[in-house]
Amino acid sequence: MTAYDFHSHTHYSDGILSPQELIERAISKNLQLLAISDHDSVTGLLEARAYLSQRNKQSNSQPLNLVNGVELSVQTDFGEVHIVGLNINLGQSELMEIIQSQQLKRRQRLARFEEKFNQLNIYGIEQATLDCCKEVVTRSHLARALVLMQLAKDNQQAFKKYIGKKGRIKVPTDWVALETAIKAIHAAGGLAILAHPTRYPLSNRKLVYLIEDFKQQGGDAIEVAYPSLSPDKQAWLLQLRQKHDFLVSGGSDFHYPDLKWMDLGRFPRIDSNIPHVIDIIKDKIAV
Ligand code: AMP
Ligand code: MN
Ligand code: MN
Ligand code: MN
Repeated sequence: MTAYDFHSHTHYSDGILSPQELIERAISKNLQLLAISDHDSVTGLLEARAYLSQRNKQSNSQPLNLVNGVELSVQTDFGEVHIVGLNINLGQSELMEIIQSQQLKRRQRLARFEEKFNQLNIYGIEQATLDCCKEVVTRSHLARALVLMQLAKDNQQAFKKYIGKKGRIKVPTDWVALETAIKAIHAAGGLAILAHPTRYPLSNRKLVYLIEDFKQQGGDAIEVAYPSLSPDKQAWLLQLRQKHDFLVSGGSDFHYPDLKWMDLGRFPRIDSNIPHVIDIIKDKIAV
């Protein structure tokens, strides 16, 4: 059994660790395959690759290998969802253009947040958020800024009160269309994976439709192992997987070291008989 984690973040999106720290953590957890899948960015991945190859030159080669990943926010008929592109070729221009465009949309969304906060007589959230960001602007950075400005006691409250699904401030964003994202991932030689299917605010019925739609648009795999997914829900996802002949994937969606239940490499197991993205990419990655 290969020890892997196919969903993780660095500080280039809304993770806390640098790519170097993430690599060290993966090595300390004895992972053999790690996908860095930052929101709309591959910068962390490039830095991680450079660091790992330097490290391997200096000390005994580690068994860790990196898998190129990205987590795209996409628009569907069922609202915004996340697609992980795995084992992508970073030289593929279509996908890199989407990433650039999504980063710009995120900046524009932040400016709209500033306007909406201004209407509540709250000023300076845009700059405070940018001060927390390295590259990609996410709502996690907005939450951090709200905490620093003492408008919320912690990130959770910032989401609940202001920027979460039920918060006071909503800024709809015109993310890339599902079909376009899948095509670009395929053009880059990657696999398109529906991330954490049960984490969207959808009824079971709508989620079934979303998964059908994902299949029709060319989706390759669904995540069936991530923290907080109950065995019942995993069994349900595995039925849907079988119906549509998807591959499966799994990962911790690691953001912060202090959340033990979401630590790197920590997520429910998947029965080894089920066709897994690892079977496809294990032989393809550069070692
Ligand atoms: P964005 O893609 O900029 O809208 O930000 C979404 C990110 O915010 C997700 O990837 C999560 O890491 C984080 N997030 C979303 N909802 C919550 C929440 N209720 N509490 C804490 N973090 C959240
Ligand atoms: Mn995130
Ligand atoms: Mn996600
Ligand atoms: Mn994620």
